[in-house]
Amino acid sequence: MMFLMNYYRKPLLITLCCLFSFFSPQTFAESDHCVLLVYHRFTDDGPKSTSVSPELFRSHLSYLQDNGFEVLPLDKVVKALKTKKTLPDKCVSLTADDGYQSIYDGAYPLLKEFQMPMAVFISTQAIDQHYSSMMTWAQLGQMSDLISAYNHGVSHSHLVDKDTKVIVAEITDAQKRLEKELGVKSKFFAYPYGEFDDITYRQLQDLDYVGFGQHSGAIGVNSDWFNLPRFAMAGLYAKMSSFALKVNSLPMPIASERPKLMMIDAGNRPLLTLKFSRPMNANERYQFACFVAGQDNPEINWIGVDKVTVRSVEPLSKGRSRYNCTVPSKQKGRYYWYSKQWLAKAG
Ligand SMILES: [Zn+2]
Repeated sequence: MMFLMNYYRKPLLITLCCLFSFFSPQTFAESDHCVLLVYHRFTDDGPKSTSVSPELFRSHLSYLQDNGFEVLPLDKVVKALKTKKTLPDKCVSLTADDGYQSIYDGAYPLLKEFQMPMAVFISTQAIDQHYSSMMTWAQLGQMSDLISAYNHGVSHSHLVDKDTKVIVAEITDAQKRLEKELGVKSKFFAYPYGEFDDITYRQLQDLDYVGFGQHSGAIGVNSDWFNLPRFAMAGLYAKMSSFALKVNSLPMPIASERPKLMMIDAGNRPLLTLKFSRPMNANERYQFACFVAGQDNPEINWIGVDKVTVRSVEPLSKGRSRYNCTVPSKQKGRYYWYSKQWLAKAG
């Protein structure tokens, strides 16, 4: 009898333990999140590094539709996260930068078919000067049932090492044109090339904009509102083989990162310190993995249960580099994803 009691008690204990962990606050704290994607061109014959074919874009939208994702407008996602309102567990928001004509020709017909919204960040000068590769204000207006236009600067200038006056004019003059032509009110700004220096970052804060970058990861309530990650969808990065992993990703539970900004000198091995918003359990600490493109995996050092440092094993070269880090979550096939972008000036 004793044997039997023990025999039956064990599965129950396991069940109770699993129920307890399933309903623990850790699971629910992670419920408000969304994944942003950034496209550029929707064409078969554009540069690979910025294009997806309409056929592949259709596969993306089909995957989202067939797998229970809600594709929400960008302003709705930002508002929900800022006011701590609930979002669907499978949340995606589509964006495209620059305002190429192929959005009108290649993407919009598919967005219509699937009834999915998209945010388009445009550089106003290219539209004002009627560049043939860009959409017109009239076309942007025609698509307003599903497409919302936002700010990508006046001239698509790289906002690094620029005079404050130039930065402010790039942002505010573009916003005035958007407001005049399309009635845009939301102050959303996508950094040209996804890059900025400390001055540009501070200007975005002072001018009260939400900033969008081009690095990987999901967004959540603790995200940096002046540098929200968006998964780049072009070339190899847009393939279906990795699409599911990206749109299912969750925000890494991070309370703070140091350094917060991206500028470093070339030849540096920058030390990144991440403070988590909750203790990471032994398994999570063990499975926390980072990589740096083109070199061996970086050094990872845990300081207690909620702080880790990451440092590349080789100096970073001039230009853009990233530390990408993931941890499997309790939900099968879903990873916490975090990316730190660095921008190295010549040393
Ligand atoms: Zn751009």
